[in-house]
Amino acid sequence: EDERIESVKEMMLTYKVDLLHLQFVDIEGILKHVTITADQFEDAVEGKIMFDGSSIKGFSPINRSDLFLQPDLDSFAIIPWSVEKNYAEARFLCQVKNPDGTPYEGDSRNVLIRSVENARKFGYTISIGPELEFFLFQMDQAGNPTVHPHDKGGYFEPSHDLGEKVRLEIYRTLKAMGFKIEASHHEVAMGQHEINFQFRDALASADNATTYKWIVKTVAKQHNLHASFMPKPVQGTNGSGMHVNISLFKDGENMFYDEKDERGLSESAYFFIRGLLDHVEELTAITNPVVNSYKRIVPGYEAPCYIAWSACNRSSLIRIPSKRGAGTRVEVRHPDPSANPYLAYAVIAEAGLSGIGSQILPEPPIEEDIFAMTSEARTDKGIVHLPNSLEAALNKLEAGSLARTILGSHVYEQFTALKKAEWESFKNTVHAWELEHYHTKF
Ligand code: GLU
Ligand code: MG
Ligand code: MG
Repeated sequence: EDERIESVKEMMLTYKVDLLHLQFVDIEGILKHVTITADQFEDAVEGKIMFDGSSIKGFSPINRSDLFLQPDLDSFAIIPWSVEKNYAEARFLCQVKNPDGTPYEGDSRNVLIRSVENARKFGYTISIGPELEFFLFQMDQAGNPTVHPHDKGGYFEPSHDLGEKVRLEIYRTLKAMGFKIEASHHEVAMGQHEINFQFRDALASADNATTYKWIVKTVAKQHNLHASFMPKPVQGTNGSGMHVNISLFKDGENMFYDEKDERGLSESAYFFIRGLLDHVEELTAITNPVVNSYKRIVPGYEAPCYIAWSACNRSSLIRIPSKRGAGTRVEVRHPDPSANPYLAYAVIAEAGLSGIGSQILPEPPIEEDIFAMTSEARTDKGIVHLPNSLEAALNKLEAGSLARTILGSHVYEQFTALKKAEWESFKNTVHAWELEHYHTKF
């Protein structure tokens, strides 16, 4: 610990860091930070930096608003664009703590830390590699985001204008902050991109997902573009997913791999899949948490809408990418980037772990195109639709009991209240579509 503190101090001296951003997320996974002067670093490490939690979504009621930030030294990074001759900025992601030093129950990072510890009790490390897609949109004259994608490129196409340049700039910025990038490419829709970073343990990956969204948006803005992680920003084309590749490791070995099995999967992998499938409906409100999430999970756009698993089929909710050995993993395809990654990874991991606990095998995989099947055929095979609206997902969430256990009552109550209000507001709004269809007709 002392050594790590020293090495951070050294970096701060080398780069002439004079400001530190202490970062954390609210209940929606939106990044927040308070900026302190670098000479307060030691106080920060001792967890002495206080802030008012009453204005953070999903945090404390007014009467208990004093909270503290404990920097996670592993998350230290120099902010690449801040580096100048005589000063620079750095950031830490922080754990939020109560005045008595205990983890704050409203902090979603703490939710995931708890899940990581649960897994560790069984000797498991949760490994996650997320894939977050996003769009780049043009800005108008006044500097406001438009809904016009910045390019006309398609899947894997070298882009025709600014897109490629911005994407490479994002890539370099992430790399400078310590990301191990595997690939970056133009996605299917116009203006849609994806940059893949290497899998890490669950907490580091949720931190990475959070940092990634911030960096993508910031660098896009530097090029006068708007980056959006909204699940379905453009009608009639692909939306943006946050596929979650997950596996368990024990003593350095991938627990999901078994060379003797016909698919190269271990019994634990099968149990894990079963656990996921059994709880998917209940947890969809967490992995797909906004009204717009449900516009993405419809047929025809490479996003799943039925609850099924498959060894290769991209239309299914759970896919097993072909890598085996240490790279054996389960790809969960329904989550989208509007999800709070800490909460999403916690519920996905724990749903899978609950399957390992109950030791029940899943039904055989569905290898045919589920979208092409008749609804009778789907019913015969017991294939159920994902909740098809935020309201339906919230009903499933409340009918179950796993989410409350994983999130803890504070986050659970705050989350459901917030999301119900969001649905009510949407439901009570008269939308442009309604005016277009009814205004002159009746
Ligand atoms: N954009 C698709 C989605 O909504 C996924 C495309 C892909 O397989 O990368 O999940
Ligand atoms: Mg993709
Ligand atoms: Mg994928």
